[in-house]
Amino acid sequence: MLGTILYGAHDVRVEERAVPVILKPTDAILRVSAACVCGSDLWPYRGVSPVEKPMPFGHEYCGIVEEVGSAVASVRPGQFVIGSFFASDNTCPNCLAGFQSSCRNREAVAGAQAGMLRVPLADGTLVATPEIPPEDLVPSLLTLSDVMGTGWFAADAAEAGPGKTVAVVGDGAVGLLAVLSARLMGAERIIAMSRHPSRQKLAREFGATDIVTERGKEGVDRILDLTGGIGADSALECVGTRESMMQAIRSTRPGGRMSYVGVPYGVMLEVQELFFTHVSMLGGPAPVRRYLPALIDLVWNRKIDPGKVFDLTLPLSQAAEGYRAMDERRAIKTLLRT
Ligand SMILES: [Zn+2]
Repeated sequence: MLGTILYGAHDVRVEERAVPVILKPTDAILRVSAACVCGSDLWPYRGVSPVEKPMPFGHEYCGIVEEVGSAVASVRPGQFVIGSFFASDNTCPNCLAGFQSSCRNREAVAGAQAGMLRVPLADGTLVATPEIPPEDLVPSLLTLSDVMGTGWFAADAAEAGPGKTVAVVGDGAVGLLAVLSARLMGAERIIAMSRHPSRQKLAREFGATDIVTERGKEGVDRILDLTGGIGADSALECVGTRESMMQAIRSTRPGGRMSYVGVPYGVMLEVQELFFTHVSMLGGPAPVRRYLPALIDLVWNRKIDPGKVFDLTLPLSQAAEGYRAMDERRAIKTLLRT
């Protein structure tokens, strides 16, 4: 089968790889229906986080169960399933508390940009759709594996809800889906921060009421202008840089909530500044598994169309171009046809 392998900075290759097999009785093997490129993949792709050895790439997936291990009871061959980028048992104390991405037995799922994929802890990780989905629903279902679940977590963790003013920092796919999530949760006003016309348009479609094009101090000043000098009730950080973290923290009103879901690299914060903000913060890798049943229901009943973030679709064999397009911000998110 074909699969992507990251060899080093800006060096993604599509190569023949061994078909995965069941290694543990709790594993499942999927035939991947569609895969995609994650914003967080761009960190190793750009060489920001080092690549020690060639690594099979991709962690967002959905597909048809091909085979299950002897201990798997909740999914069976032939079902269409979606799972998170962290496999979880869904039974340990952290899972039961709703933080499956901190499962005590968690395992990273890697190598999803391929024809076939091994998913560990299948019972706790995979959720099946009611039936095999029609082809046009597959992109939206794929987003639930990470990007939509992460946008939802950003909104949930910052308590976006009825009557709230929400500021979203970051106009990547996660930020755009955080806008959609805040709208679904009933936020009254959603301020999207973006300088790109095509991304602003999608943010509006997803429910943004205001667009702020400024960044840094000017961006914070604009948010304060729009909120009577107080700041947003909820600020959602969806990038992972120091600039975006500070922008989100400084855009939040005292007593407000800020979430951070962009994977940070080398970001240092001044605790003294944080101390005087009275902002509460929750972030981390999204517990996507917690949200899967509800989000599958919303997509299945065509209440939401998060698959709109895919503005580039390529065959898996052209994955390298998919990475380049996202790296150069020519594409919001690349879908790879397996
Ligand atoms: Zn667990």
